[in-house]
Amino acid sequence: MSTVSRYTGLIEHYRDRLPVSDDTRIISIGEGNTPLVRLENIPREIGKDIDLYIKYEGLNPTGSFKDRGMTMAVTRAMEEGSRAVLCASTGNTSAAAAAYAARAGMTAFVIIPEGMIALGKLAQAMIHGAVVIQIRGNFDDGMRLVKEVAEHAPVTIVNSINPYRLQGQKTAAFEIVDALGRTPDFHCLPVGNAGNITAHWIGYSEYAGMSTQACAFCGGDCKHPCAAVSDKRPVMVGYQASGAAPFLRGEMVDHPDTVATAIRIGHPQSWDQAWKVREESGGWFDECTDEEILAAQKLLTSKEGIFCEPASATSVAGALRDIKAGKIPEGSCVVCTLTGHGLKDPDTAIKQCEGDMLTVDAELDAVKKAILDNLA
Ligand SMILES: *Cc1c(COP(=O)(O)O)cnc(C)c1O
Repeated sequence: MSTVSRYTGLIEHYRDRLPVSDDTRIISIGEGNTPLVRLENIPREIGKDIDLYIKYEGLNPTGSFKDRGMTMAVTRAMEEGSRAVLCASTGNTSAAAAAYAARAGMTAFVIIPEGMIALGKLAQAMIHGAVVIQIRGNFDDGMRLVKEVAEHAPVTIVNSINPYRLQGQKTAAFEIVDALGRTPDFHCLPVGNAGNITAHWIGYSEYAGMSTQACAFCGGDCKHPCAAVSDKRPVMVGYQASGAAPFLRGEMVDHPDTVATAIRIGHPQSWDQAWKVREESGGWFDECTDEEILAAQKLLTSKEGIFCEPASATSVAGALRDIKAGKIPEGSCVVCTLTGHGLKDPDTAIKQCEGDMLTVDAELDAVKKAILDNLA
């Protein structure tokens, strides 16, 4: 006897909570179903009794959570007869758009800020065959141009202003509740455009049977059942990089800058929604310096074996600070989203470890000495 259980992506898995019909052709590369890993060493090291998990979104097909939204956005673009998709991107959206468009047989146009894309992300957009348009400007310039040009060309925008993106991304919240058998007390995320924190709130709200906000986003054509799966929603905490922190400044930032290129955004597209999430969940925004972000990235790699890109580490940098300060109390169940894989940005990783490599002669004595000198 055999039971077939091949995982075929998040739309199939959460189909009754997503805006698809029985004959929708689903464009999937097996996204979602990412591990929820419990941190073992870091909580012990900081001496706090905390149930701390990371949601390892870097293990999606193109290495970031953007795949969750892209499977939904490209599936719907295809269904609506569109032949091309368009996005502005700090890198990961373009990688996902390129891959899902390839899978669908569509053309992807991606607008990226010249010189500000991590190497892995650029490689992805190019190898998947996207038309890559570099602009002499930043992400916010790209976003403005995308909105303008979409009025003059037959293309579907697949940035997170496309409501289907958030519908796909809300499934990360479903997976967390399904995996834990409960809702976490706190959920911490890095915030750029604030689409992801908004999408998680939609997901948690639906699972708690409180989906009024979700309906506003999906235009009323998603079919979330009313049945509640969980009995509460978490406190949502959004962390930004200090050089790109409009939610901390209380206004748009015109020249955002941070080593965390994925959240190098000064004009968030989901501005109003994110403030609402903060208010409804009783959460907060805070900021982390580039030094704190890189230190958290290094801590995760060296203490837990988990490699995320700098932007992703912002959630852990902020959460650890708030845990140490008691703002997130001991005994809490906390989930931090690690939004993208560390291999996306090898340059920043190597720069962090400069001088750590040993170079010796190709001789037994030299290699032996290198090992004995460095035994812990
Ligand atoms: C897109 C992205 C973010 C920011 O998500 P928003 O929805 O724009 O807030 C954070 N980290 C990584 C790695 C990303 O690719």
